[in-house]
Amino acid sequence: MTASFHPPQRTLMGPGPSDVHPRILEAMGRPTIGHLDPLFVGMMDEMKTLLQYAFQTKNAMTMPVSAPGSAGMETCFVNLVEPGDTVIICQNGVFGGRMKENVERCGGIPVMVEDEWGRAVDAGKLEDALKANPDAKLVAFVHAETSTGAISDAKTLVALAHQYDCLTIVDAVTSLGGSELRVDDWGIDAIYSGTQKCLSCTPGLSPVSFSEAALEKIRSRTSKVQSWFLDLNLVMGYWGSGAKRAYHHTAPINALYGLHEALVMLENETLENAWKRHSHHHNALKAGLEAMGLNFIVPASERLSQLNAVSIPESVDDATVRGLLLNDYNLEIGAGLGPMANKVWRIGLMGHACRKENVLKCLSALDDVLGRLDAPVKHGVALAAAQVIYSS
Ligand SMILES: *Cc1c(COP(=O)(O)O)cnc(C)c1O
Repeated sequence: MTASFHPPQRTLMGPGPSDVHPRILEAMGRPTIGHLDPLFVGMMDEMKTLLQYAFQTKNAMTMPVSAPGSAGMETCFVNLVEPGDTVIICQNGVFGGRMKENVERCGGIPVMVEDEWGRAVDAGKLEDALKANPDAKLVAFVHAETSTGAISDAKTLVALAHQYDCLTIVDAVTSLGGSELRVDDWGIDAIYSGTQKCLSCTPGLSPVSFSEAALEKIRSRTSKVQSWFLDLNLVMGYWGSGAKRAYHHTAPINALYGLHEALVMLENETLENAWKRHSHHHNALKAGLEAMGLNFIVPASERLSQLNAVSIPESVDDATVRGLLLNDYNLEIGAGLGPMANKVWRIGLMGHACRKENVLKCLSALDDVLGRLDAPVKHGVALAAAQVIYSS
């Protein structure tokens, strides 16, 4: 007989999923009701308002896609890109590469603006590309690049795109709830996020929001959206304001209870305080890591709080360290992706994982494991350095 699966209690400090708050897990265990049940529909309406708050938008088309962040990405591209459309993509890490894949599969023409990995997107390069491609219809970029830990100036990039009559698609999977993000003030046209990063929730849902200008482009399409499941015209029959809540697909009911709880918690904390919490614990973690002699790969002014990428010291084996952290401390940190594989660790401070006990646990575990491996770092100093931040 096969036994039930009982995972251990890990501390999740990688690039996501991050620690899920117990209140959210408890909410997900509540009784399943019908997805057209009037009480469930009432919960959906509340969720929309809560998501509008999280995104800082009044966009009516704001809802969670029933699939992970990658599906939110795809929802933006399949609805907004028509065959033949030129789309400028600013790439400074792994996720920009996926945007290119999306554009190509929609029959669009991607124009890549390459930035150094570990740096913010360069507005000057985007402007050059906009000048060189006057037929471009869309600009897409990642606000918080989880593969490197760099944040880009979304407000400036969106304003620039608009000057050249382009709509914008912004990846906010890792920024929502962790970094300042203002969809309406910054004029973002289409945005997608995920539940398992700074929202403290389980993976599997993707909040999205679309401006009136984006909806206008979708309405004036001459070709059908290539994906039936992600076609917003159809999804809105279920999620749209005043919609008849017609059956489109069975909503992931219990997962949505979890997101609702996560958003209630965010509303209680307030966005501003959530942003501050991420930067506060980042400062403590940074002090500890730097005291050990570990170096951040992103310049300070372009650094995310919720994703801390540091170089792996010379002579240290990446997988050995992460294995010891997992086995001895139940602690998960992230490996490098793509060209950064074996070169960096990515330490996440996302959502519920972003708290003092995790910062101190991570620093003391790293200190111990790197000490055992005779790594060339300073020992016994990290915790005290972090405590200086906490007691100031
Ligand atoms: C995690 C992530 C995604 C993908 O989200 P999934 O939920 O894994 O599909 C997309 N973009 C960025 C920047 C991410 O960090």
